[in-house]
This record gives sequence, structure tokens and C-alpha cells, in this order.
Amino acid sequence: MPAREIVLPARKNILVAGGAGFLGSHLCERLVSEGHRVYCVDNLQTGTVDNLGSLKRESRFSFIEHDIREPLSETFRVDRIYNLACPASPLHYQADPIHTLMTCVAGTRNLLEYATHAKATFLQASTSEVYGDPHQHPQTEAYWGNVNPVGPRACYDEGKRAAEALCFDYLRLSRVDVRVARIFNTYGPRMRADDGRIVSNFVTQALTGRALTVYGTGRQTRSFCYVSDLIRGLVQLMDVGKNPAGPINLGNPREFTVLQLAKLVRTLTDSRSAIAFEPLPVDDPQRRKPDIRRAKEALGWFPRVALGQGLPPTVAWFSDSLQTTKALARPAAAANLSQPVTI
Ligand code: NAD
Ligand code: UDP
Repeated sequence: MPAREIVLPARKNILVAGGAGFLGSHLCERLVSEGHRVYCVDNLQTGTVDNLGSLKRESRFSFIEHDIREPLSETFRVDRIYNLACPASPLHYQADPIHTLMTCVAGTRNLLEYATHAKATFLQASTSEVYGDPHQHPQTEAYWGNVNPVGPRACYDEGKRAAEALCFDYLRLSRVDVRVARIFNTYGPRMRADDGRIVSNFVTQALTGRALTVYGTGRQTRSFCYVSDLIRGLVQLMDVGKNPAGPINLGNPREFTVLQLAKLVRTLTDSRSAIAFEPLPVDDPQRRKPDIRRAKEALGWFPRVALGQGLPPTVAWFSDSLQTTKALARPAAAANLSQPVTI
């Protein structure tokens, strides 16, 4: 039998804003591995050059430290722009809310202008937070959402909504070929241990023997997508020939309560950590689950990695990085990582 030919996509010049972050660094890795030339633009607010690992030695990869709230002064010849620049965890995006809002609005506008002049295709990383605390369940892209426009989450929710409005104006005016991904909760290696999100908190708490902090009753739900599935979805959305001309939900539709996740993490880490109930944050959405029919129809995309398969490598990564940085108050519990759990 002749060896099966592997056809790599044509080499492109690609700018990834937010490329030193959790999702952005996985995206840069994937794009470089496909043969593309990648310019990673990041202000290192929540990202880190450590996330870029071996990429730093690649001739087809450049890191540019820059805040997208300001226009880029350097001109790179780019065919594609992915805009992932924005802190994603509530703790981080609320720490400097005006910066977050301006990153979303001024930053996205600056990159759309850049795309206009470069004639580049543009992908915006939007979010399920545009649905706020939704009245529709599961959430379809046609749903306009239920967002508190003046609450502590508004800097992110309204910022991302305004960024979407900008994107679709540039598309309608035929200035830029824009695609918008509405990303639902995504987890995996390279999340920050201190970012305050549910997966990073529960895993680090379980590994260090601290109580798992469940906010509210723990009956609120989220749907968790593994990072490899999400990155594949972003790339497919950028690659698809026919512009979907509307936002696309990307997420895993399997829904879990916060308490279910806490118990699963304890099992996977062999942890005897207690569960500590703490107050629910203001405007915390009560239910979240993507309707992904549009992604299936437009891109042929659907998630492949179940939570029970994605959590073990995530736990292993946190366990390694906690030990490496000696951030542990006491030694990590041995993680039970030998077998994926079927969920
Ligand atoms: P992250 O915080 O790890 O990454 C964001 C990156 O953007 C960081 O490297 C940060 O330094 C950089 N950044 C922030 N503000 C910037 C600015 N003004 N200029 C330049 N760089 C800036 O977060 P993530 O989880 O990787 O999220 C990436 C994108 O995906 C974000 O736009 C986020 O809103 C979106 N998103 C993520 C999730 C998720 O579950 N991870 C869910 C919905 C949407
Ligand atoms: N949450 C929790 N304990 C934590 C962190 C988060 O119970 O230590 C809850 C939070 O209240 C929310 C859900 O987990 O209901 C997801 O929170 P996260 O901050 O990860 O992301 P969100 O989807 O709210 O942006």
C-alpha cells in the first residue's frame, strides 16, 4: 500500500493577538506545526512567555510585546488575524475593568483596521458571556442574551458584545472577512493556577489538600470543552471557505453542575479535600450549555474529548507545574491519572 499523502494547508502569515495566553499559545503551536508563519502579539497581562516554550526557538515564530489598545506600529504582511487578546477569567477581567473594556473595543477596532489594510481574514474570540445569565437553554446563536450592562461582569460581557458589533459592521461594510466564535468554558493544560476559574481552582485545591470552594449552592451549570477541541474549532472556522456570516458557538454541550465537577476532580486526584460553600458572585450565570448545531452544519465541527478524558492531562499538568514552581504548601496528592474516566 502506498503511504497516505499528508497535504498541509498552504502556508500563511498569521497574527495571533493574545498568543501568549492559555488558548492563544495552543493556537500558535498548532499553526506553526502546520507550517505557517506566526506573529504572536501580547501584552503579557495574563499570558506568559513560558507558555510559548519551544516556539521561541522557531524561525517561523515571532513574539511582539504590545497592548492592542494601541495601534500596531510595525507592519507585517499577514493573511489572517486571530484576536484572542483579553483576560478570560472573571477574577482577571474584573481586576482592571476599564482596561478590559478598552481591550475589547479599542483593541478589536485597531486589529480590524489592521486587517482592512492587510486584506486579512479576521477571527474574533467572543464568548458565551454575551448570553449573560440566559433565559434560553441551551443557548443558540439567535438568542440576544440577558446581560446586566452595569454590573461587575459588564466590562467583559458588554465589551465582547461591542466587539462583535464592530466585527459584523466591518463585515457588512465589506471591509474585512470576519468570523466570530462564541467560546464556552474551555479548560486544559496552561490554565493559570491563580486565575480563579472553576477548573484551575478545583484542581489546585484538590492537589494541595485545600477545601474545594463551591460558590452558591453548586447547582449552577457549565459545559466544559477541552482545549484541543476548541483550537480545532477556531482553525476550522478560519479555514472554512464560505463565511458563516453570523457567530458560531464552540463548546462541549455536555452540561455539569459545579458540585458534579467538584466530586469528579476529587475522584481523579484521590483527594480527601472538603467542599466549602462560599457566596455566589454577583450576576453569576445559572445555566450554560451551547447549542452547537450551527458549528456542525457550517464547519462539520463537534467536540471529541469528554470531560473524563480531558481532566486527567489537565490534572497532570497542574500537578507538574505546582511541583516545579514549588508553589505547594505541602506535597501534592498523587493524581490518579492512569485511566481516563468515562463520563
Ligand atoms: P488568557 O487570559 O489566558 O489569554 C488572554 C491573552 O491575551 C493573555 O496572554 C493576555 O496577556 C493577552 N492580553 C490581554 N489583554 C491584552 C491587550 N490589551 N493587548 C494584548 N494582549 C492582551 O485567556 P484565554 O482563556 O486564553 O482566552 C483567550 C480568549 O478566548 C479571550 O479573548 C477570551 O475572552 C476568549 N474566551 C475564552 C474562554 C475560556 O474558557 N478559556 C471562554 C470564552 C472566551
Ligand atoms: N466557581 C465555583 N468555585 C470556584 C470558581 C468558580 O463554584 O472556585 C463557579 C462560579 O461561581 C461559576 C462556575 O463555577 O458558577 C464557573 O466559573 P468560572 O469563573 O470558571 O467561569 P464563568 O463561566 O463564570 O465565566
